[in-house]
Amino acid sequence: MTTSLYARLAARFPDPSKVFLETHDGRTITYGDLDAESARMAGALMKLGVKPGDRVAVQVQKSAEALLLYLGCLRAGAVYLPLNTAYTLAELGYFIGDAEPTVVVCDPAVREAVAALPEAKGVAAVETLDSAGRGTMADKAAGQFDTFADVDRAGDDLAAILYTSGTTGRSKGAMLTQDNLASNAEVLVDAWRFTAADVLIHALPIYHTHGLFVATNTLLMAGGTMLFLPKFDADAVLALMPRATTMMGVPTFYTRLIDHPGLTREVTKTMRLFTSGSAPLLAETHRAFEERTGHRILERYGMTETNMSTSNPYEGERRAGTVGFPLPGVDLRIVDPDSGSELPQGEIGIIEVKGPNVFKGYWRMPEKTQAEFRPDGFFITGDVAMVDADGYVHIVGRAKDLIISGGFNVYPKEVESEIDAMEGVVESAVIGLPHRDFGEGVTAVVVLETGAALPEEHVQAQLKQRLAAYKLPKRVFFVDALPRNTMGKVQKNVLRDTYAKTYE
Ligand code: ATP
Ligand code: MG
Repeated sequence: MTTSLYARLAARFPDPSKVFLETHDGRTITYGDLDAESARMAGALMKLGVKPGDRVAVQVQKSAEALLLYLGCLRAGAVYLPLNTAYTLAELGYFIGDAEPTVVVCDPAVREAVAALPEAKGVAAVETLDSAGRGTMADKAAGQFDTFADVDRAGDDLAAILYTSGTTGRSKGAMLTQDNLASNAEVLVDAWRFTAADVLIHALPIYHTHGLFVATNTLLMAGGTMLFLPKFDADAVLALMPRATTMMGVPTFYTRLIDHPGLTREVTKTMRLFTSGSAPLLAETHRAFEERTGHRILERYGMTETNMSTSNPYEGERRAGTVGFPLPGVDLRIVDPDSGSELPQGEIGIIEVKGPNVFKGYWRMPEKTQAEFRPDGFFITGDVAMVDADGYVHIVGRAKDLIISGGFNVYPKEVESEIDAMEGVVESAVIGLPHRDFGEGVTAVVVLETGAALPEEHVQAQLKQRLAAYKLPKRVFFVDALPRNTMGKVQKNVLRDTYAKTYE
């Protein structure tokens, strides 16, 4: 039986002459090339001293070669450890110290500095790859054979360590097994009806689960083709769309496309599927996109630790503002955060999931791992949600963003939805700030449409007619834009810091 992720992908690869990837500057890589070039990468890693189970830390710009390096790692039995390109040298030092990789691959511009990091002392080799896929790693691969005897891995062996986005605190290294990744890709191929005929627009970063695993592994598992962009750019995406069948995106992709006059029914004519995830998609964005294109975006939910857990249906109603149903093989329950007991349908609580998709634990954090798993194997996601009468999961927010004001629970999303519905409002974020009398004071941060005038008192007065008094924001602040990371996640921790002294 084939158990390694690479073997399970390769078992489904199409004819070697089929194009796997096309770059923005017109280079094409066939499945035959993929096989040969990832073999060379695997050979080069082995020559550098990488043994099965060793980590290979990679902080490079997005390139086709970076994907080949990922596949080379899998074939060499190494653990791929991609890092956000935004991390500074000091942060890189922390991750290298934590993960103890055998090889680090970084941008040529920082090679010397990385090699000089105190944490890099035990690293056998620091190699480079630039945004065009050139560097010492590519050179070393070029000197290797184009075939490789893939290292056998068990389903439970690690394929990757992926650090979480750091939205709620310091990033944690999620240990993902061969089976975690392979099973999720197989499930998504079926759930989203991927076939070799698919042409995917890939505009996501490849250091995050969305672009690396959801998009790349699913596409590879189907033997399809990807149109590979260095980053999201609405003009570039729309120029490619008439040749594509599908795109996976974060909500900001969709809001930017909606803002572009080029988004029409005509330009999306060949598309069969748009998916969204990594952050909540506003129901309004869902509706606006459908109005312009006739396509209903399919929203799904997952996290670094669990891969994809729920999805709206491919056939059947894609319900705006929800993340759909648990995927096949995934058990999902909503529990009371304090007692840990399962709540009846319709009540708000924490999502817990169990299944082949769920990670093995946090790298070198046994206590944290133990604290986040229930004795019966369910993983405590920290996301707050409710399941409606039809079984659709509605995410209400994160447990860490829940506000407790005067002893009452306030779910930010409920207040945000009311504010977002007001005339002149683009979007909002509701946070809790330290408050002498109430513990936390509900606070709204609002983005207005250009030219709109909506005084603080008017927001408060309108809310007063709709929400219980304890949910009302004590202050409303106006900003030009909410702070977001590259995955489009609103950084509420940044807002909490900015307005920390409001009620002092
Ligand atoms: P950290 O765990 O380091 O604080 P993070 O949770 O943002 O960061 P990721 O693993 O990248 O790191 O993101 C997973 C989270 O993203 C989920 O727990 C959930 O809160 C959010 N998320 C993903 N998809 C959706 C979605 N469709 N709707 C709402 N939230 C989503
Ligand atoms: Mg998280």
